Amino acid sequence: MSHLRRLRCCLWLAVVLGGLASCSKPEAPAPRPRDAIFKDRLALPAVYLTAKSHKRIVESAGLPLFSSDPETGEMIWPALYCTNPDCPGRREGEPLLFIEPDADYACPQCAAKRNRAAETEAVRQQYLNWVHPYVLPETAEKVKQLDAELQKRAEYERTHRVAPVVDRHPLPAGGQQPTKADPATRPDP
Ligand SMILES: [Zn+2]
Repeated sequence: MSHLRRLRCCLWLAVVLGGLASCSKPEAPAPRPRDAIFKDRLALPAVYLTAKSHKRIVESAGLPLFSSDPETGEMIWPALYCTNPDCPGRREGEPLLFIEPDADYACPQCAAKRNRAAETEAVRQQYLNWVHPYVLPETAEKVKQLDAELQKRAEYERTHRVAPVVDRHPLPAGGQQPTKADPATRPDP
């Protein structure tokens, strides 16, 4: 048998066996419902800072708004950080966390080096874009996995005509939570 014929034969066999395997393969178990996935997301660790002493606290991402630290009694807020590569507050390997953006909702450390009077709108916007909610690396990794699981669930609901559970939960990891800078959510002093 020539080499080419043998190769063709093997390929044909692989197709037939593959087909048989897929016929006899039992259906994979249904992905977990959305509620269970959201519950896991809210339980992921997130970083908060206390309002005055800026004590770093790691708590679940689903911590209720206006929670306070039992030790200091201070209110705690989801931590923000600045991604400006030239941020004066930048330290090697450790992001500078803060909860009180400046008047423009930008990084307070960057404020010192800015000349707002001469700043274009694009530059101002760039300073805003550099500020992000801080997400722990392990939480970011887990969020990716849960997002993939959610996608599988959505696909399952579509193919099995299962009604999706209405999302009643806020998104976790600080990203969608109001920050201290948000006047709409700030309690009266
Ligand atoms: Zn900065």
